[in-house]
Amino acid sequence: MCGIVGITSFKEVTPRIISSLKKLEYRGYDSAGIASVSDGALQVTKSKGKLINLIEKLNQVSDANSYSYPSIAIGHTRWATHGNINSENAHPLTSENKVAVVHNGIIENYDSIKISLESEGYTFRSQTDTEVLPHLFMKYIKLGNNFLQAGRLVLKEIKGAFAFVAMSLDFPNELFVSRNSSPLAIGIGDKSNFVGSDAHSIDHLTQKIIYLEDGDHA
Ligand code: GLU
Repeated sequence: MCGIVGITSFKEVTPRIISSLKKLEYRGYDSAGIASVSDGALQVTKSKGKLINLIEKLNQVSDANSYSYPSIAIGHTRWATHGNINSENAHPLTSENKVAVVHNGIIENYDSIKISLESEGYTFRSQTDTEVLPHLFMKYIKLGNNFLQAGRLVLKEIKGAFAFVAMSLDFPNELFVSRNSSPLAIGIGDKSNFVGSDAHSIDHLTQKIIYLEDGDHA
């Protein structure tokens, strides 16, 4: 179980995602990743090992492309429980390049959910329990639900100890967050809102913190 951050804003978010992930490093981790929406597309960068590896990769990506700066992003440091330590299993995990999710904890009933999603045509690219989350979001969005409705339907299906943050290209100004036995705090800022695994990870960005309780979503 390690660290989660997310930011929605009107300004560029990547430096703030990195600064928050740095504040979660003390918890220990084996890989790190970030997803953002830029120019109408999901951009995902992940790497094994220390955060500095991810930062170097992000610098290479931004040198090679002329993306506009993202104003929504999620970041993660992983402590693997299901699947090897490699960049495929690092978070964010995605579905159809449209939904991205970062997750801490364990989805206990992922096996049966995975079997039914595979029978519906979803392809799994990681060995993680987490990957059921982006595919479930995708499934419920395709059925015509908005992001909040989709998140609530996902919560009805999953069991376990978790905290997660989801984002979707179809709802590019929203994050869906939820916790059950893993910590998560929301920060309300001036034209920016934040979410992090603990208050410490976002208290350099805002002083207005809401601590979620088990079973909460937002
Ligand atoms: N169970 C997930 C995985 O193995 C999340 C691990 C974590 O809490 O970082 O990828």
